[in-house]
Amino acid sequence: MFKAIRWPEHGGKPHCPHCGCPTVYEARRPSGALRFRCKACRGDFSLTSGTIFAHHKMPLRSYLMAVALFSNEVKGKSALAMSRELGTHYRTSFVLCHKLREAMALELKGRIVGGPGRVVEVDGMYVGGYVKPANHKENRRDRRLARNQNGKRQVVVVMRERDGHSLPAVFKSESAALGFITNRVAKGTEIMADEAASWNDLQARFPMRRIDHGSQYSDGAGTFTNGAEGFFSRMRRAEIGHHHHIAGAYLVRYAQEASWREDNRRLANGTQVRNVVALALASRPSVDWCGYTQRWQRA
Ligand SMILES: [Zn+2]
Repeated sequence: MFKAIRWPEHGGKPHCPHCGCPTVYEARRPSGALRFRCKACRGDFSLTSGTIFAHHKMPLRSYLMAVALFSNEVKGKSALAMSRELGTHYRTSFVLCHKLREAMALELKGRIVGGPGRVVEVDGMYVGGYVKPANHKENRRDRRLARNQNGKRQVVVVMRERDGHSLPAVFKSESAALGFITNRVAKGTEIMADEAASWNDLQARFPMRRIDHGSQYSDGAGTFTNGAEGFFSRMRRAEIGHHHHIAGAYLVRYAQEASWREDNRRLANGTQVRNVVALALASRPSVDWCGYTQRWQRA
């Protein structure tokens, strides 16, 4: 299956990842581990060389099982639950889940949403930076004030095309996202946003409609951002129900995972599994996660 997914254009026949040569022999290691040898450059490679599963330690079936478990979930897969099901250490499945998120993100790379006559909903969701109120009432501070926050709060901004794809990104504030939105939403797209003042500057570049959530969620004439809100509600449930902590360095990966799940939700789960494996085999080895458990680099 890995052969068929990695080299579909050659009918599943291995081609050298170093030089592209099609003349390749099976040359198993003394241990019996499967390797291929290229006739042209004499380099050896495995089924996963140069992919996100490179240097894998577990049998390939475990990876396939992990992908199946991961993509069959609706909102997300807890790494702890996955480690129980696969019989691995928590850290192994944590890293594996993150590699799969990285593979899913490959589908979003360079994505442009919208186009003339299309509608894109834009909204933001704040994550992280929770400040616990003090025990005694007299010690509690007004947590709405910037000086009483801890600066760890981030915002996930999603651009969701109606009847189309979604594209998330992470910023310090909603207004920091304007440049990104301008770059990734096609010209002539109609943008729908809520009443937040941070979106005001988009009005100069796009035809825009606003909905004031203070008075209504939809004006009956197609002005609403409920697609973006739905994306966030599912992402929030993934945080509360599965991951518990998504804010921090990898927030964008969780957002990209949520986006992939959103866009591919109508596919049969067999197709989803196959697509995730294909994305994993098309991804280069992960910079963040390759050798993470062995501490090849300091986090
Ligand atoms: Zn070669």
